[in-house]
Amino acid sequence: MPIRVLDPKVVSRIAAGEVVERPASVVKELVENSLDAGSSQISIEVRGGGVSLIRVMDNGVGIPPGEVELAFARYATSKVGSLEDLESISSLGFRGEALPSIATVAEVDMVTCAAGETAGTYLSLKDGVAVGRGSRGRSPGTTITVRGLFRKLPARLKFLKSPATENSHIAQVISQYALAFPEVKFTLFIEGRMALTTAGSGRLIDSVTQVHGLEVAQNMLEIKNRGWQGGAAMASPLVTGMVGSPAISRSHRGYLSLFVNRRWINSRLVARAVEEAYHGLLMLGKHPVAIINISLPPEEVDINIHPTKIEVKFSNEHIVFTAVQRAVRQVLIELVPVPKIEEVATTYTSPSPPRQVSWLSAVGGDSLTGAAPVASQTPTVSLPALRILGQLLSSYIIAEGPDGLYLIDQHAAHERVLFEKIKLQRSRQEVEVQGLLEPVTFEVNPQQEEVLKSHYENLAEFGFTIEPFGDRTYLVRAVPVLLYDQDWVGMLRELLDSLSGEDKDDWGEKVAISIACHSAVRAGQTLTNDEMRQLIRQLEQVALPHTCPHGRPTMVRLSSGQLKKEFGRS
Ligand code: ADP
Ligand code: MG
Repeated sequence: MPIRVLDPKVVSRIAAGEVVERPASVVKELVENSLDAGSSQISIEVRGGGVSLIRVMDNGVGIPPGEVELAFARYATSKVGSLEDLESISSLGFRGEALPSIATVAEVDMVTCAAGETAGTYLSLKDGVAVGRGSRGRSPGTTITVRGLFRKLPARLKFLKSPATENSHIAQVISQYALAFPEVKFTLFIEGRMALTTAGSGRLIDSVTQVHGLEVAQNMLEIKNRGWQGGAAMASPLVTGMVGSPAISRSHRGYLSLFVNRRWINSRLVARAVEEAYHGLLMLGKHPVAIINISLPPEEVDINIHPTKIEVKFSNEHIVFTAVQRAVRQVLIELVPVPKIEEVATTYTSPSPPRQVSWLSAVGGDSLTGAAPVASQTPTVSLPALRILGQLLSSYIIAEGPDGLYLIDQHAAHERVLFEKIKLQRSRQEVEVQGLLEPVTFEVNPQQEEVLKSHYENLAEFGFTIEPFGDRTYLVRAVPVLLYDQDWVGMLRELLDSLSGEDKDDWGEKVAISIACHSAVRAGQTLTNDEMRQLIRQLEQVALPHTCPHGRPTMVRLSSGQLKKEFGRS
């Protein structure tokens, strides 16, 4: 279809709005255009977090010389013509908004060559207006260069995060499309470094290896859609992709890649379907690694509900949910003895609320996992002298204080102690470091790499000696003493993941919290009386003994007055 300006009737039906929120949105729109153009190779280059430069080069169908200017006109598109077309969109773009929007907030150059042309067309735009045109040698395909994004919009520039953070969002976009289009060879250069390259082999497992690394890839299983018989009236969507074994679960949802007809989407519905399939197989707070593509007739999904096209609406949510949940579950059932777990889960009925609940809630202690601090119930300046009575559930220390009974969460308390110790050592540059006998290699994904690159020094301040070892692999030579026999690889990975979207300022705090959390005594660990006594003595020394660094309470108290009341003595 040639590029044409959409009929106003069609325009009025489009979910128009701001397409360009940040550099990653420009990258997303340009890469979607390259994919719509049928490219088999797409190369992306960014500098200055995408603000100084974004260049996307493809070998797709190109734009005929007579249509190049039109591509930058508002609502001009070659992908949709009529109202009916809007009902079943099979391309990634359809509104003709991206190029004009980008051209109004940056300087844009395009060189494009359609098949059969002898030379390419060059067009240069400033403030949305063409300022130069000519012909350039080029093989078929399109190159778009975007410079000085938001230069004339200081308010928008101010809203952006550090270049490292913007780069990590860009890496995220390319990673997702690399997973959705394994047959396309993607290459991403960030600040002159090759951050990601995929083979374009057409095999999803290759893309997974290139994006998430070998460790994840070796633990992925393909979804074999062996014909689930859905509701008779409506065909069930085809679910394809790969799911990770529970062993490689992660502490956040960033490893869940969802696509509809290979469009990258956000969908709580689909995310929930996947998580439900893992029910009983993951530890609390852990999330699966999975790549899920839902193929269904375009008229059964509305992608025209949000300007950035990342939210979608399914015409039959129930069928989609069930199809995803079953497809994922089926793979997992083959992998792990699920029936056993299900048996336990269904025959186990939780006892009626134990009596403790009532008194714990009486002191606000039912919020052990909530944010409400118990500090108001307990002395705020320092801890009273506590006499240890024993340990409950291998998780709580029971102690007697001047006014009643105290329950101390051993993990939370230890976390607080270690957190303050780590911060103090760091501020005095006295961090205790343990060299590893053998350096350990550590593989990261492109997003994690962006974070790692810009924070070597911060990690070094806390005792990590990490060096690049090539090919997104790093060599760890030393770790903080506290973490020496702990799972510091898991800790580093979690830290890099949780920091992808953060700026540098609160790094120190986060690293300290993470080290404290991973080296503190766990719930479920039996402690000797001496160990408990030591922990309480240490807790007495810290500045803020009543909460852990995450803000959860370290202790709850049942006062003698409350005890009397509970027993009907007053
Ligand atoms: P949309 O993708 O919604 O159609 P855009 O503003 O992103 O709108 O692009 C306008 C038109 O320019 C597209 O419809 C397409 O015809 C053309 N175009 C943009 N980028 C490319 C590309 N990389 N290769 C070929 N054609 C392109
Ligand atoms: Mg587009």
